[in-house]
Parts: sequence; C-alpha cells; structure tokens
Amino acid sequence: MSGAYYHRARAPSACRGTAARGRYAILFDDPDLDTERDHVKSFSALLLAAALALGTLSCQKQAAPSQYSQKIVILGFDGMDPELTERWMAEGQLPHLTRLAAQGGFYRLETSHSPESPTSWASFATGSNAGKHNIFDFLVRDPKTYMPDLGIVTKEPPEFLFNYLPIKRPVITSIRGGTSFWVTAGQHGVRSSLLTVPITFPPEDVENGELLAGLPLPDIRGTIGTFYYFATDLSRYEEGNTEMGGILKRLVMDRGVAKTELVGPPNPVVKAQQRAILARGPSLSDADKAALAELTAREDIRLPITIHWNRPERKATIEIDGKSLSLAEGEWSKWVTLEFRVNFLVRLHGMVQLFLIRADKELQLYVSPVNWRPDNPPVPMSSPASFSSQINDRLGFFRTLGWAEATWPLNEDRLGEKAFMDDLYRAFDDRAQVILHRLDAKQWDLLVGVTESTDRVQHMMWRFIDKTHPMYNEADAAKYGDSILRVYRRVDQFVGEVLEHLPAGTPVIVMSDHGFHSFRYAVNLNTWLVNEGFLAIKGQRTEVKGMNEMFLGSGQFWENVDWPRTKAYAMGLGQVFINLKGREGDGAVDPAQYTAVVDDLAARLTGLTDPRNGARIISNVYKRDQIYTGPFLKNAPDLQVGMVDGYRVSWQTTLGGSPPGDIVYPNMRKWSGDHCGFDYRTIPGLLISNRKLAAQDPRIIDLGPSVLKYFGVPIPKEMDGKPLF
Ligand SMILES: [Zn+2]
Repeated sequence: MSGAYYHRARAPSACRGTAARGRYAILFDDPDLDTERDHVKSFSALLLAAALALGTLSCQKQAAPSQYSQKIVILGFDGMDPELTERWMAEGQLPHLTRLAAQGGFYRLETSHSPESPTSWASFATGSNAGKHNIFDFLVRDPKTYMPDLGIVTKEPPEFLFNYLPIKRPVITSIRGGTSFWVTAGQHGVRSSLLTVPITFPPEDVENGELLAGLPLPDIRGTIGTFYYFATDLSRYEEGNTEMGGILKRLVMDRGVAKTELVGPPNPVVKAQQRAILARGPSLSDADKAALAELTAREDIRLPITIHWNRPERKATIEIDGKSLSLAEGEWSKWVTLEFRVNFLVRLHGMVQLFLIRADKELQLYVSPVNWRPDNPPVPMSSPASFSSQINDRLGFFRTLGWAEATWPLNEDRLGEKAFMDDLYRAFDDRAQVILHRLDAKQWDLLVGVTESTDRVQHMMWRFIDKTHPMYNEADAAKYGDSILRVYRRVDQFVGEVLEHLPAGTPVIVMSDHGFHSFRYAVNLNTWLVNEGFLAIKGQRTEVKGMNEMFLGSGQFWENVDWPRTKAYAMGLGQVFINLKGREGDGAVDPAQYTAVVDDLAARLTGLTDPRNGARIISNVYKRDQIYTGPFLKNAPDLQVGMVDGYRVSWQTTLGGSPPGDIVYPNMRKWSGDHCGFDYRTIPGLLISNRKLAAQDPRIIDLGPSVLKYFGVPIPKEMDGKPLF
C-alpha cells in the first residue's frame, strides 16, 4: 500500500482516485521504512479505508472500444491572429496551415463578449454566451463587498483535527456553468481526450474521456504564477512582492555564500488556526492578537536556500531541499522537485526550474513558479485523477502550471527576452508532446488540445512588430522582431506533425479564441469615472495595487471610495458596473434609474477620446441585456466597453484602482499586445480546417454543436451555437 490515498499508481489495473469536481487529496510522502513512517502508513491506511467508504476512490474502467468510426481533432492556439496568419501564409512561412486551408478553408472565427481567453474558451466548451456559463472576465466581484477575486474557481479550505490531522479536504469548484460539449458527447459514447483546454480546472468528469486540466491550474501557492528572483544588486526598496506576482529577495554575500529562502505554499493548518481566531468576532483580545501575529509570521511554508557563488568561473551552486545543483551563467536547470512539509503527516509536492541569469559582477537567480508535480499534485489535475501521473510515467515531468509562460518576470524586467523565449518554447513543447502522445494512444474519437504560447508571445513581443508602440526600439526589434513569427512557425510545424500522425481524411480544425491588437496606451477608466462624477473618492489616494494583494487576499480595495455617492465603477478588463441599490453592498443607484444611468454612461463612454490628439478610444459600448442571456445574467457587467486597436484599460483599473492623473498614458511595459477589452467585432480568432464549412461566418460557440452533429449526438437546447458542417 502506498503511503498516500491519492498517489501515483503505476500498475494499470490499480484502483485510483477519481477527480470529481477537484476532490482533494492531501499528499503523504512515500513512507520509508523507519518506525515513525509506520505511523504515517497506518494513518494513511485508515484514511484510505474512509475514502473507499465514502466512495471517493473507484476502479478506472478500461477504455471501451468505440461505437463510432469517425474521428475529429481540434487544435487550439490561444490568440492566434487571423491577419498575421494570413500574411505569413501568403509569404510561404506556414506551409502546413496553407495546405490545410487549401483542402477546406480559412475563416475568421467570431469571438465572445468579452474577447478574453477565460470567456472565449468557456463559450467554446459550452457553445453558449457568457450569460449561460458565468465566465465574464478573469475577475469576478462580490457585489456585497466589491472585492475582486480570480473569477474561475471557489475554494473551501481543508480542516484539521487538533490542528494536525486532516479531516476535511479542500474543495475547489469551478464557477463555470453550462455543459461542455465533450461531456454531452461522452454521455453518448464518444471517447474524448481533452488536453490543457483553458477553463478545465478543476477537471470535470468526462464519461468515456480523459482530461488533463489547463488554466486556471495554479502554482503551489495557489496563484497564477509566483516567480522568484534573487539578486545581489536588488536594493532593499525593490525587495518584496511585485505588482504581477513575483517575490524578490536581496542576496547578501558572506565570503561567497548567501542564505535566503523560497516562499512556498500557505500552510493550511496555520490558515485554519487564523480563521478560527478571526471567527471569534470583530474585537479580539490581546492574547488573540498576539497569537494571530505569531501565526502570520509562519503562514507560508519556506524552504531555506544556500547559494555558493563561484565568481571567477561565473557559476553558482544552489542548495535547496536537500539537493545541490551547479549552474553556469545563462544555464537552466532541469526540474528540481521540492517538498513542503505542512506537518509530520502532510506534504505538498512541487517542482521548479532555476535559471542563473548572471554570475559575473552581480549574481542573479530566477526560480520558476512552483509547478504541481503531475505524479503527485495537491489536488487532482486530471480526470481520471491518475491520468496526469500516467502521462508523467511516459514523458517525464512536464509543465503543469495553467499560465505556463514566464510573462510576469519579463514584464517586471527580471527576465530578459532571450530567456523568456527559450522558456516559452519549452512550455509549448511540453504541451505539444502531451498532445502527440495522446494522439498516438488512439483511445479517442474526439481530441481537443490547446497551447497558449501564441497568446503569451504576442502579449510580450507585440512592441517589436508595431513601430508606433512606445516600447518599440530598433536595436531590440532587430534581435527579437521575429519572435511571434517563430512561434507561428513552430505551430505550423506542430500541425504538420499532427497531420502526419493521423489517417488521411481525418477532419482537423485549427482554431483560436480571439485575435490580437496593439496595447500602445493604457486607459484609467476608474479615473475617468471619478472625473465624470460617477465614482466618488474621499480624499486623495496614491497607492498602487498589486496582483498579489488580490490573489493572496491581503489587499485593501476601494478603501477611499465613497460608495453612497458612487454610481458606477470599473473592474476587470473593460467591465463597468452600476452601483445598484439592492444588489451592491452599498448601492446608490435606484433600480428605477438603472436604464437612465446605463444609457448616460454608455453615451459618454462611446464619445471618450484621447485628450492628446482627439482620437476615439472606444468604438462600442455593449449593454448587458443586448449581449447576454441566461441564468448567470445577474453576474454580468452592466456595460462592456469595446476599445479601439491601440488602447486598453490600465492594470490599475483592472484591479479597481483610480490613481490620480492622466486618463490615457503610454504603455511603457513589455506587455504590449492584447485582446482584452477590445471591441469583439474587430478581434476575431481564426479557423482553418480541411473541411469546408457550410457557414462563411463561423463563431466560437458553433464548434461544440458542430462536433455533436458530426457524431450524430443531439444538440442540447441551451447551446446558442449552430453546426458548421
Ligand atoms: Zn491573452
């Protein structure tokens, strides 16, 4: 018996945990043979028995032979832009895509409201508008508190007996509603393989299917990607957490040796103790306050790191978690496994890659976000739960983090372009390998595989293909100007490999969820709302918000907002909400005035121009009731702005901030291309297929119904989309 009740199972006939709605499995170490570990073993055996009694473990069924003779493959490339693709196809840069299009067609694929990946991929999965699947943006707000949160999952924390024994697993639930077309297909016997499709975490049960989760599968800290940066040339002022989720630590060398630490996951036992104290009420005793302070000091599990700097040879040896690895300047490490000890019984397992940025005059070390181990994740990351481990057995460690590319460290100027691109190709290849591996396994009728490197490279490198971008410069453009093209060429090569692995005539659809625009100027929508009298502020505010404040739940939001005098506020990527009485916690707009306020605001937003040159910023403002229908309409933004190519909402608006100053300012970040908050009509994705479509104007919501019809499965009435062939 293995030491864990959810653990890697190598024997193909073994009974394994299921992954229903991300059911939890606290992980135990592989027990060694010492006596202490026997204690662990017997406790684990007890939990295993309990788990079996609760029906949380089940024997995985052998893949049944298919009742279908037809097969179909959908390859998704996030953000792949139809204009760029068309241009490079015409230049002969993308031969496999050109061949595919010649056999069927090349189309623009209408995206979703808003044109953001979470919304678009949820629309893809359910064949419906966001009013039916509930994913309107990266963020959701709690209308009672106005607090933002990562908009895709809710978490119930685990519970511990005597602050020690795990008695209740954490439950992670997706807020996505509706039914995925692969679930419907599976109920009719279609065998499917779903690989890293965004918005498939926690993994859903798919009858007759296998699913490896994609975005928003987090890192070990529960964030979309906390990176680490250690350097001798960091000032004390720079140390700490960055706006976009990095932890920076200054290295102090003592005779060539520095001691530091890696901040790992929050300790769930300590978190439970903190919650217990806070539950005692608003006024805490001095003893409680002292206890809370003591708990806060150790709320994260930290791993000590020792760095030995060999300056003459430009090398460093890094000791972490009992391992020692030597890196030369410019060298990446292989995956290094890490174990975070919650207590004697409970461990959380992760893995990182290290990159020694420089070791000459200064020492700079980058450590990737702590990825979950596919063979030992803290909660299941696939369905069946053993699927991720089986892939790992075949292919070795692969990147599991949903947001797989190192965009934040590049945006924060901690990682350079070359390192970012080297890492991005590895992220792409990891996913491509998984897709090719499952393609060859031939246990599917429907295969959907998604990679997102196309999206990330365009976010970060658009500044080199747009000479009018404030971050364009000729020297760097000469070096990195072909980065996006190179990734498109890698996509083309991968499509060629997939076609080679398939019997001739298999329908293949290459598609993307949206296109791309330039993000030259940032627009502080909330500042505009303040200036126009929709958002009321008490006093002056100057602080700048950080993503970590939001994701770690430690931030103060809207602290200077005078809610009783506020009519509207912006959050997320182009979403505007009315501060409605009865819905918002401190609502100020009477429901009878809702339409008048919406109309007034929409008219004024539509006329919004760039104060520097009078250029139009917003081409369309979409009102909730015009674009959404369905059971989740109540969570929809009241207005969704559609910006013109070149303008995007500022990061601070995204986080609810309204910094004083200019409404429009040049985007001086490397994050220079975008699609969020643009007018959906101007930013379609693409569809290239060896099958001709009946319709000339396909939409992303049409793909699910098309697949169902292809297998002769009835199309559910809730779907908004229509079959394309
Ligand atoms: Zn994107």
